Amino acid sequence: MIKQELEALRSKGQLRQIPDIQAKSDGKIVVAGKEYINYASNDYLGISTKDDLRKEFLKQNDSLLSTASARLLTGSSPEYKHLEATIANIFNKEAALIFNTGYQCNLGVISALIGRGDVVFSDKLNHASIIDGMQLAQGDFFRYRHFDYDNLEKLLESKRGQYRRALIVSESVFSMDGDIADIDKLIELKKKYNCLLMIDEAHAFCAAGETLAGISGGKDIDIITATFGKAVGSFGAFCVSSEDIISYLINKARSFIFSTSIPPLNIAWSNWILNNKRDYLLSQKQKLQTLTGNVHKLLGSRDIKTPSESQIIPIIIGSNEETLKLSEKLRAEGYYIPAIRPPTVPEGTSRLRISLTADCKLEDFERLLDIIFSCKHQSTQDLMSI
Ligand code: PMP
Repeated sequence: MIKQELEALRSKGQLRQIPDIQAKSDGKIVVAGKEYINYASNDYLGISTKDDLRKEFLKQNDSLLSTASARLLTGSSPEYKHLEATIANIFNKEAALIFNTGYQCNLGVISALIGRGDVVFSDKLNHASIIDGMQLAQGDFFRYRHFDYDNLEKLLESKRGQYRRALIVSESVFSMDGDIADIDKLIELKKKYNCLLMIDEAHAFCAAGETLAGISGGKDIDIITATFGKAVGSFGAFCVSSEDIISYLINKARSFIFSTSIPPLNIAWSNWILNNKRDYLLSQKQKLQTLTGNVHKLLGSRDIKTPSESQIIPIIIGSNEETLKLSEKLRAEGYYIPAIRPPTVPEGTSRLRISLTADCKLEDFERLLDIIFSCKHQSTQDLMSI
């Protein structure tokens, strides 16, 4: 039975396998013995692979490598308090709570806040961790069409009154399309319909927006989640909110309560990057934003349409087979851009997801467009529009 199901996945071009990744350095990745330009990293500022940074940090730090317990027992430490204060400060919020991963954070926050008689309104393209959080929660949920705030408002009009607590959830920069939610509209709707608003800033925190505080900047948003595993080049995740909501989560979020906490050394690394290396972080963020602007200008100058407004740029192909073929072709040309297929993205929208990082070069992107254009014998405009 399992064998047959695996075979079915293989024949649909949807079988996933862990790649043989051997090394990573500034903007490059070594896979199965060969080096490629790395267009598949969420390490948007290139921090996780900087040898000099890591060595400097390790010289000054000998924090423990395990907490051997959940936070509520013996798994907390001064590094945690420091990082939570740093994050609350960045988003100008009362309090923060660290979770082990962004997945566990979204799962824990949504399932804790939404009980029987409560409801979630969620953008249809929200990340799996949000979907799984809604499924685990005991309340109901409705998914509005991606970015269709009229559709959201209709749902709010007809459903909101039937429930006690209501939560609207959206990512800011969407992970697979790189497009950006209309945060002001969401704030307007959450106020009009008396809902809590939760924004997942995983792909924007320290990477997009004017400050380090993502696209929303924290303003008028009840709950913000994001991870340290992307632009900060570390590991773990957090939620920022009011003192009351954070206290509530400490008491109710099961993925927080029942799991051994992240090693203090890793928490110290996030602290060090965000506090001691803030100037470097900001200069890498500026580099990324300049590159992103230039890449979008290049796409515009070639009349290539894309939903993206950020460092994440999808090349939507459609079929699994074609996407895998193009990914292989680009690999032969020195680019590492894995095929993203269902269930990560909706059926029929398989794609290559390019994530730019601060260490990427505009010339490489330009050459990539030329290759895609020549190998498809059709305009890249068709390729890059949904
Ligand atoms: N939210 C979004 C929007 C994500 O893209 C991801 C991971 N890619 C997560 C949450 C989960 O974060 P983590 O990898 O830290 O579990």
